[in-house]
Amino acid sequence: MKTVADVMQLMKDEEVAYVDVRFTDPKGKLQHVTMDVDLVDEDFFEEGFMFDGSSIAGWKSIEQSDMKLILDPNSVYIDPFYAEKTLCVHCNVVEPDTGEAYSRDPRGTATKAEAYLKASGIGDTSYYGPEAEFFLFDDVRYSVTPQKVSFQLDAEAASWNTDAEFEGGNLGHRAPHKGGYFPVNPVDEAQDIRSEMLSTMKRMGIKVDKHHHEVATCQHELGMIFGGLVEQADNIQKYKYVIHNVAHAYGKTATFMPKPMKGDNGSGMHVNMSIWKDGKPLFAGDKYADLSQEALWFIGGILKHAKSLNALTNPSTNSYKRLIPGFEAPVLRAYSARNRSGAVRIPWTESPKAKRVEARFPDPAANPYLAFSALLMAGLDGIKNKIDPGPASDKDLYDLPPEELAAIPTVCGSLREALESLEADHDYLLAGDVFTKDQLDGYMALKWEEVYAYEHTPHPIEYVMYY
Ligand code: GLN
Ligand code: MG
Ligand code: MG
Ligand code: MG
Repeated sequence: MKTVADVMQLMKDEEVAYVDVRFTDPKGKLQHVTMDVDLVDEDFFEEGFMFDGSSIAGWKSIEQSDMKLILDPNSVYIDPFYAEKTLCVHCNVVEPDTGEAYSRDPRGTATKAEAYLKASGIGDTSYYGPEAEFFLFDDVRYSVTPQKVSFQLDAEAASWNTDAEFEGGNLGHRAPHKGGYFPVNPVDEAQDIRSEMLSTMKRMGIKVDKHHHEVATCQHELGMIFGGLVEQADNIQKYKYVIHNVAHAYGKTATFMPKPMKGDNGSGMHVNMSIWKDGKPLFAGDKYADLSQEALWFIGGILKHAKSLNALTNPSTNSYKRLIPGFEAPVLRAYSARNRSGAVRIPWTESPKAKRVEARFPDPAANPYLAFSALLMAGLDGIKNKIDPGPASDKDLYDLPPEELAAIPTVCGSLREALESLEADHDYLLAGDVFTKDQLDGYMALKWEEVYAYEHTPHPIEYVMYY
């Protein structure tokens, strides 16, 4: 843990010129304001920084817009892209008069979720290993967009069937659809870009492990070592920031949109989770797949609340184009140690310390603070209420006979359904005031705007089918 004194020393040693004060809005976007270094002393950390929150979507109205940012000394890093030496600090938002956490601040929710776990007595630490996938495309200023490519091809094929339009063409040394996992260069055309991304993250203090091309054309993944809830949500914000900016430097754009290309894999953000108590892993035991009873109940909670979780873990209209059969993304609310077609998988490991539960439905459009907090709250609800997840599904779920398949419940099919599910099922999130009703109302209002924008807009494929 870093103290304010450590940060002051670091600022001197590094000859920092600016301090970038950063926070995350409800939709998950990083925001910032830059302070001259002379203004940032111990008191600045103590007293916080006033700002006008009324222009942040989903926060306060104009009449009561003053908000305060409290800088977390433990979150500092030197910005790797700015020309002037700049120290970045992630912040929580508080009410200026009372100093209480602002209930719609996602990082505040994550801070409360960590405290709630400790207070519950179930565990004292939780770990998260998110795997956020992304696509790299040529920048629209230099080339055509992927959307434009697939729309042109759709029109030519006059068909909404997958893949057909990509068969038979000479792609040169390019990964075909579903062909990216993982031949060497030149099929993998982004080795140097990914290495630069990972090295940059390492210089910012993130514990990294690997990078690779993913299954889809132009799809990639970088790996981070697991970490705590707030820590790892902060890291996902840094991860996205680095990926966007290194891509930009190469004349590319990166997107965390869950399903940018039809007929190819989408981008998930699998979240590997475990709980520890008194230095011992709570999820290792002698039940199915060497899990403990608590781990099975945790899975029970996630499967039970999966549909309302979707509103937070799969928060875009596009998210539901990923959650379909045939692309390694889950549809069914089932769990297994073996197959990857269920919502929850138990990755193979011999080490009790590495025993974890992997939620496979989340995607990288999610606000990481809200998504990790909500997953933890669902799992803890499972443990508290001893929610039995039922038997594991060890067959390939996509190959089941139709009657058996129909008996397994599914995740949501649309953002509309996810918001309706969250409206109907959210008490588990409100436990310990980790989330608040006001916060969920504000979040859902933002997301309903996206649902209406989407549902009210004629889609390109409708011209193919109906014009
Ligand atoms: N891209 C897949 C998804 O949507 C995951 C592929 C993988 O990492 N095995 O979740
Ligand atoms: Mg992975
Ligand atoms: Mg992956
Ligand atoms: Mg995974």
